[in-house]
Amino acid sequence: MRLLIVEDDVQLGDALAAALRGIGHAVDWFRDGAAADAALAGAPFDAVLLDLGLPGADGLEWLRRWRARGVDLPVLVLTARDGTDHRIAGLDGGADDYLVKPIATDEIAARLRALLRRAGGRAQPVWTHGALDYDPSARTVRWRGAPVELTAREMALLEALMLQPQRVLSKAQLQEKLYGWGDGEPESNALEVHVHHLRRKIHPGVVRTVRGVGYALGAAEDVE
Ligand code: CA
Repeated sequence: MRLLIVEDDVQLGDALAAALRGIGHAVDWFRDGAAADAALAGAPFDAVLLDLGLPGADGLEWLRRWRARGVDLPVLVLTARDGTDHRIAGLDGGADDYLVKPIATDEIAARLRALLRRAGGRAQPVWTHGALDYDPSARTVRWRGAPVELTAREMALLEALMLQPQRVLSKAQLQEKLYGWGDGEPESNALEVHVHHLRRKIHPGVVRTVRGVGYALGAAEDVE
């Protein structure tokens, strides 16, 4: 997933970004709402982690603006321990969920998965496609019941394709899902290499090339 963090506390923002990168997400972290607002227009984020107490307009104000503008990304609000009023205001303002500081990485990871499941219309914790099973919680992939070893980026690519199984994603869109701005420029053929590895490790039909457009998840009957 590509995640946008808006948090002005340097220590917390840094720790959150590192923890989420550590479990395979592409993360961009901004310290104020205006920078995050500009970022939202520039990349296909999957979810936002939003602190409420920010310099300038606060998190709630930005959330209201985004919702008024039709931004429908899942938003997880980060609040202080005793901020019940803030939590309620956050949910009323269009947040999908909230987390109370101090934040445990395991908990945030689980909440994000739940949000994305809902956003993707998947009620099941394990995603199945043909003979392929992906468990985003355990971060395991099985092919015909046998475990498949994937790197974090390969898993992120598979997840992006499985999240929207009907959609063709351009190379640029997929690249933006896998790499944050701080990750540096990936090698020009990095995506092709990840696709090649998925096909080799799982099944040649798992990723479909759509000539001149990009890639899509292979049809379920081709992944049996
Ligand atoms: Ca703050």
